[in-house]
Amino acid sequence: MTNLILLGPPGSGKGTQGERLEVELSLPRLSTGDMLREAVKKGTDLGRQVEPIMKSGSLVPDEVVVEIIAERIGQADCGKGFILDGFPRTIPQAEALEAMLTEKGTAVTGVLNIAVPDQVLIDRCVGRRLCSNKECGAIYHVKSNPPAQDNVCDRCGSELLHRSDDRAEAVEERLRNYHRQTEPLEDFYSSRGLLHEVDGVGSPHEVFERTLEALRGVSGGCCE
Ligand code: AMP
Repeated sequence: MTNLILLGPPGSGKGTQGERLEVELSLPRLSTGDMLREAVKKGTDLGRQVEPIMKSGSLVPDEVVVEIIAERIGQADCGKGFILDGFPRTIPQAEALEAMLTEKGTAVTGVLNIAVPDQVLIDRCVGRRLCSNKECGAIYHVKSNPPAQDNVCDRCGSELLHRSDDRAEAVEERLRNYHRQTEPLEDFYSSRGLLHEVDGVGSPHEVFERTLEALRGVSGGCCE
């Protein structure tokens, strides 16, 4: 089993690296952010509950995401492992994950901590644009990777979106939450010998090379 966690602040490139790793390792990427956004889009009870919390840049309650993940990792495609993107984000979530994996006779095999300074993160999020077509999922940046035509996806022609939680005030709130609630996970996993640092400043390709390099230190990691 290869059970990986991508740790890193909002905008650090967890999603981008996770998508590449998903292909490289043939493991599903489980993004709680994507799952919650899907619930909001569909207007489910869960979606209505979490929408205002997500818009403000705060974290949704631990029990909500723990339940979503517990259900998801029980599915057949997680039989060989998974890549967690955006979960856990608090110590109670990490403890709940540890307990649910122990119960299944498995464990987290590695944690990749993608480090990026706050100001770089703010610039990235505020300029980030996502293709509204979920099948496409292309990601742009108004300065560093703009589409040929404003607000139109080069790949599929769909409209581009600026996530409401990528606006400046929400990003600053997400970063405050990250430092307060999520950063303690670095010590949590480091004390278990599972933390691997990845310098997240650079092009997606450069960061991916470093991610693969860090994975070589993960038992059962990849890329022999
Ligand atoms: P992300 O796409 O991972 O940045 O997540 C977007 C938003 O979803 C976050 O700002 C939170 O409001 C919520 N969210 C996603 N994952 C979690 C989690 N593990 N714990 C709490 N809230 C989460």
